[in-house]
Amino acid sequence: MQLDYTQLPLVDSAEVVVVGSGSAGSTAAIASARMGADTLLLERYGFLGGTSTMILDTFYGFYTPGDNTRRVVGGIPWEIAQRLAARGMMLERPSSYGAGTAITYDPETLKVVWEETAEEAGVRLRLHTFCTDVLVESGRITGLIVDGKSGLGVIKAKMFVDATGDADVCFRAGVPFQPAGEDGPSAHETGQSQWPLSPPARGRQRAYHTPPRRSRHQHDTRRLRRCNRSDSTDESGDRGTQTGTGICPFPAQRGCGL
Ligand SMILES: Cc1cc2nc3c(=O)[nH]c(=O)nc-3n(C[C@H](O)[C@H](O)[C@H](O)COP(=O)(O)OP(=O)(O)OC[C@H]3O[C@@H](n4cnc5c(N)ncnc54)[C@H](O)[C@@H]3O)c2cc1C
Repeated sequence: MQLDYTQLPLVDSAEVVVVGSGSAGSTAAIASARMGADTLLLERYGFLGGTSTMILDTFYGFYTPGDNTRRVVGGIPWEIAQRLAARGMMLERPSSYGAGTAITYDPETLKVVWEETAEEAGVRLRLHTFCTDVLVESGRITGLIVDGKSGLGVIKAKMFVDATGDADVCFRAGVPFQPAGEDGPSAHETGQSQWPLSPPARGRQRAYHTPPRRSRHQHDTRRLRRCNRSDSTDESGDRGTQTGTGICPFPAQRGCGL
């Protein structure tokens, strides 16, 4: 059954509407608002950050992989990392599997940092708002169909950014796409899934599950875990949060979970 969208109320409009407030969407919305555009950021959940605040506690990708790691990402993402650091909720450490320097953070603080940075930039937020469909006229998206506590409605804009992580907006607009796994292994072949795996992926899966030899960094991480749990005295004799990789800024009583 196709709903008659012409009967739906116009609930908002903006110059730029960003759908999805993960790292990509929040960054895009902050950049857009700082450039002076009236920017609306839609998010189906009640907080910003997407996977970065829902699931993860470590950013990779700021630094090049390997031992001689070098930071290659700046801009708004680095500003977010610095805002975490200013709150004492960010720790740079060697990655356990050669991905270069990793940035471990407290995800609850990151929710606050994303929102604060977006609001300072002038981004308007609409949380608990799910984009279910789009309006297309002459090959251009002219509006979104959104759902929430108030029911269905329309949001209009000159420009839309699909940052849903799943290309929901593009899909609804009829943009062609290639299904994952059609031409080769897809992202589900991580070694943790129940999906049938191709022979090369099975090899990778075995490698994934073979316990690696303990590296210097894994040793450091174990110390980090231990010192945060106890919040007392670590192996080096320092109180609280001194670790082999540096000073862990997360006080144990906050339960950062490392
Ligand atoms: C298993 C796994 C482990 C990973 N581990 C790491 C790691 O340790 N470190 C690291 O740096 N990266 C990691 N990554 C990669 C990282 O998660 C992604 O690169 C990053 O989250 C992508 O950000 P994004 O903003 O594009 O999407 P997302 O973070 O997925 O954000 C999408 C946002 O859009 C919202 N949304 C979706 N659909 C709609 C809709 N229709 N209407 C309204 N809102 C919508 C979602 O609620 C979400 O907030 C991992 C990825 C996976 C899958």
